[in-house]
Amino acid sequence: MTAHITVGGTDLVQERRLVTGIPGPRSREILERKEAAVARSVGHTLPIVADVAGGGTLLDVDGNSFIDLGSGIAVTSVGNSNPRVVRAVRDQLDRFTHTAFTVVPYESYIAVAEKLNQITPGDFTKRTALFNSGSEAVENAVKIARHATGRQAIVAFEHSFHGRTNLAMALTAKSAPYKQGFGPFAPEIYRVSGSYPYRDGGLTGQEAARRAIEHIENELGSQSVAAIIIEPIQGEGGFIVPAEGFLSTLREWTECNGIVFIADEIQSGFARTGMWFAVDHEGVVPDLITMAKGIAGGLPLSAVTGRAELMDAAQVGGLGGTYGGNPLACAAALATIESYEEDGLLERARRIGDILTDRFTELQRADPRIGQVRGRGAMIAIELVDPDTLSPDPALTSKVVKYAHQNGVILLACGTYGNVIRFLPPLTIEDPLLHEGIGIVADGLARS
Ligand code: PMP
Repeated sequence: MTAHITVGGTDLVQERRLVTGIPGPRSREILERKEAAVARSVGHTLPIVADVAGGGTLLDVDGNSFIDLGSGIAVTSVGNSNPRVVRAVRDQLDRFTHTAFTVVPYESYIAVAEKLNQITPGDFTKRTALFNSGSEAVENAVKIARHATGRQAIVAFEHSFHGRTNLAMALTAKSAPYKQGFGPFAPEIYRVSGSYPYRDGGLTGQEAARRAIEHIENELGSQSVAAIIIEPIQGEGGFIVPAEGFLSTLREWTECNGIVFIADEIQSGFARTGMWFAVDHEGVVPDLITMAKGIAGGLPLSAVTGRAELMDAAQVGGLGGTYGGNPLACAAALATIESYEEDGLLERARRIGDILTDRFTELQRADPRIGQVRGRGAMIAIELVDPDTLSPDPALTSKVVKYAHQNGVILLACGTYGNVIRFLPPLTIEDPLLHEGIGIVADGLARS
């Protein structure tokens, strides 16, 4: 039987259903207005316009129902318009919408901080500061690390993505489209090789970490490094899971050298991988963690949580911002975290990961263009390659992704070479819908 959910009075049937060509006439009309009104550089992946979304589907303005395998880039992990989130935000809307926490504080901000201090790894005393976007959290983590250490150099990794603001862009590896034409970039950022098991000739985690450490020691000197910032599973870079031991070796070295270890868990955090944070899988405890995306069910919120002595180092007034930790976003975050906990979503992420991994591993046996199936929990990807040379196949990737879009599945690509398809379904998606979405991707591969 097909499941139904109710979103804001709309009966949202949990099914894939196309009633027009893609895009439909209403979407086409609105997107023409987009072209005339919105800066061209603000692109869009699917040529449709959203109307209602929830569970595992999104309805467009033409009445087409899409299976959601993207969650708005790992944001609506608790489902779009999650009932707990809607209720909490409505209640807050009726009380006040803004005071500026740095002018008049409110309890929900403090409750979010307490909760993040509790669920992030590490049994030391922690503090939290809230912001609006992932990029802003990254910028602030760097500010905090520099202030606390009195050092300036920041080390980031190949294939990294940390955001689009000036400093975050400097930390990001890939030039096009993120950096091209947007310089000059912030100084004192250095990039080293990480661990990309599929493409680095089989280095062990320790070997890959030693390579990075030697590079830093020889070319920078560890005493000038304030922090290293690393995505425990690289997101935009291609869902790259480092070889075991890579993160822990780096962690040990930073600890011995007074360097702040910043885990950027903006994409990999919040139950996505089946644990609260991706570092939890290896027992690695960062000094600072940046969080956003899955934190507040779609409302804009981000956070930096970490060791109290680092977080408290900067002068009063040095951290903050007009909107950071907005009361609606804080209400949403508390309800979102409750949903992860009460609705068994960490376990659900692991189950989704098993389904995706099993299905694509099976497909891979018959189709060597699937070079690798990787990821953790509900953060799974396939890397598409030329089977003879293993060189990346972005053209095939783009064909499969377009096929999915034309056939009612929201699907995202990623990867430095544009040859990775990533799966980030909402954790509220039901098994039949997930299987159907995978089936469409399989069809797309078979036809491309
Ligand atoms: N860090 C990581 C790991 C990310 O995946 C992203 C967003 N894709 C960011 C930072 C930037 O977040 P935002 O787009 O909210 O600024």
